[in-house]
Amino acid sequence: LRMVSATPIGGEPVSDEELRPHVLDGFIGQPRLKAQLQLFLDAARKREVPPDHILLAGPPGLGKTTLAMIVANELGVPIRVTSGPAIQHAGDLASILSSLDAGEVLFIDEIHRLPRAAEELLYIAMEDFRVDVMVGKGPGASSIPLTLPRFTVIGATTREGMLPSPLRARFGFTAHLDFYPHGELEKLIERSAAVLGLSLDEGAANQLARRSRGTPRIANRLLRRVRDWAIVHDLATVSPDDVKEALALYQIDTEGLDRLDMAVLQAITRNFNGGPVGLNNLSAMVGEEAETVETVCEPYLVREGFMMRTPKGRVATAKAWEHLGLVSPDAQSM
Ligand code: ADP
Repeated sequence: LRMVSATPIGGEPVSDEELRPHVLDGFIGQPRLKAQLQLFLDAARKREVPPDHILLAGPPGLGKTTLAMIVANELGVPIRVTSGPAIQHAGDLASILSSLDAGEVLFIDEIHRLPRAAEELLYIAMEDFRVDVMVGKGPGASSIPLTLPRFTVIGATTREGMLPSPLRARFGFTAHLDFYPHGELEKLIERSAAVLGLSLDEGAANQLARRSRGTPRIANRLLRRVRDWAIVHDLATVSPDDVKEALALYQIDTEGLDRLDMAVLQAITRNFNGGPVGLNNLSAMVGEEAETVETVCEPYLVREGFMMRTPKGRVATAKAWEHLGLVSPDAQSM
């Protein structure tokens, strides 16, 4: 057994920064969303006011942070980045809000995980551009209302349904990001390959796209592993077979399914005889939170035709049995 280090020699930026597009034009795919956002930004620029607050919803790795940075860049304003879990008390948020400059973008990742008190403070700030700052402690404490300059909140969430409706209602524009079709991922991979200085043969991007789980972050990660392979093997260009071989080494599933996707399919087929099985039973069986199974894993499995959600529960499709190399009970009885 040979251990493969996750960080190649020479080092690579651990972050996503290197491959992030900075303008809306460079953002690949999601054409409708881009057109809507373009109009929204153009209108704000013409009116010379900061745009309404924006909510970006969708699974991890589909470009929410990237879009937030693009919006700030296109508006030519600074962006302040925080997240729901990073804000433990309403006071943490109050101090961020009271230090914002006019027009600034405040990006709040995982906004559905803000503590309740911070949520309330936030939607008042978003609506009235006002925050009540608590002064002192105990019975003598009092709150001083502070007027804020106009700013734009961009919230990102994997779980839009968990946002309380008063907060959700404060967003003037909500965008839903969905998994990328293979064609869009191919374009993204070609763009990233150009940035990394890697030359791909015809068909190589397609092999990568198919294994990327509809997700730009995964596509970029796999591309870096293929680049390692090309460097080690002194390849001038990368062929589709190189991609297959390189990614087989890392045990990347040919349909792009990750460990959790596979665990879910294994559980439905092996433990529940193909289903139907309820979300809670299924999540318990794979040892993952129901929220993660429902919002990260299932949308992809359903979309790719591995699973169906029926009123009675989750059911594995013939495609799932086949992909696992198993014979479905239906097929046996035929
Ligand atoms: P999220 O915030 O939704 O988890 P990110 O915005 O961090 O996802 O994106 C993950 C990576 O994928 C980043 O490196 C980003 O540059 C890249 N990426 C995501 N969407 C796109 C896109 N539409 N075009 C180009 N690159 C993208």
